[in-house]
Amino acid sequence: MSERATQAIVDLGAVRENARALLGTLTPGTKLMAVVKADAYGHGAAPVALAALAGGATWLGVACVDEGVTLRQAGIVAPLLVLGPVLAPEFPAAVAHDLTLALASPAMAGELARAAEARGQRAAAHIEVDSGMNRHGVLPADLPDLLEVVRQLPSLRLGGLFTHFACAESPAHPTNEQQLRALLAAREAAMGLGFGPLLAHAANSVASLFLRRTHLDMVRAGIALYGYPPERQEASDPLPGPPLPTLRPALTWRTAVARRWTLQPGDGVSYGLTYRAQRPTPVALLPVGYGDGLARALSNRGAAVLVRGRRAPIVGRICMDQTVIDVSDMPEATVGDDVVLIGSQAGAWIGADELGALAGTNSYETLCRIAPRVPRRYLCADG
Ligand SMILES: *Cc1c(COP(=O)(O)O)cnc(C)c1O
Repeated sequence: MSERATQAIVDLGAVRENARALLGTLTPGTKLMAVVKADAYGHGAAPVALAALAGGATWLGVACVDEGVTLRQAGIVAPLLVLGPVLAPEFPAAVAHDLTLALASPAMAGELARAAEARGQRAAAHIEVDSGMNRHGVLPADLPDLLEVVRQLPSLRLGGLFTHFACAESPAHPTNEQQLRALLAAREAAMGLGFGPLLAHAANSVASLFLRRTHLDMVRAGIALYGYPPERQEASDPLPGPPLPTLRPALTWRTAVARRWTLQPGDGVSYGLTYRAQRPTPVALLPVGYGDGLARALSNRGAAVLVRGRRAPIVGRICMDQTVIDVSDMPEATVGDDVVLIGSQAGAWIGADELGALAGTNSYETLCRIAPRVPRRYLCADG
């Protein structure tokens, strides 16, 4: 096991409890898909998937076939939907590992059926309806053709229909209702053609929490599973909301002080000497940088880390592998001190959402940018 000071500690008990809490607020009977794409938003796909399944999730969502294969190779047999666009060269692997693909066109249906026939198997698919996001999926106008083609291909097993909201972070946005109606109409059309029971799903985390009528047969939750409230455009919910689950952030990103010294007035720090000390300033060096996923855009933006339970600002440019902080507020700081980049320390807290906002992005990107070279350590769920 790596002894590197910089590491991401993932509390699998938190993931399991977040799944359980989220399920507890869903319309009874609604299934939970744990979205574990991008290596579970940087948390580690297989351990997180197992924790979410232990918390009651019954489906897993990934972005590409490789991510699905990784989970299968870890021994995970739960139904697994590949949410992103997949091209024909990956169809054989998808069929071999029993991954469900997001079906979006008659041409794709034909190619997927051929890949399944070549292996003497059936291919699982959910039709994705592009109901307004204008990203992946079949346009409602082209759906009848697609359904007709799928009906003629016995090697395809259609198990569901889904769509993705463009504006769910604004619960009152009229597009939400239009998209929901388009999906329900698509399900109606499929039922009319004699397709068996189909899972209809639309909600991501924010819709799961704030748009109860979008729960349908299943919700697909990512960010909430990791313990972060989803991004909201409106400060206050104009709709009477459902009870919100208590979510606990699962990931702590930590490092340790590697050097401690004092800058003299006029001393500059790091590339370009963009920060200069005004007075004698105690500083510390951290063995972490943008090569680990600490965005260089955070340089000289007032971003801070936690040392001895207080905020120590980052000074000068963040390098690929090293970062300097001002420890004026905790001059007793010393080599080896625990430093928290994301998470809590002695009652103080810095969230991935806060760090993301300072870098001009959000919690989602901040978490999944934590680089593969940062070792992940798992606190195991008990019970
Ligand atoms: C990523 C993704 C989700 C999960 O989104 P969160 O906001 O993290 O809950 C759900 N559905 C689709 C299609 C996605 O791409």
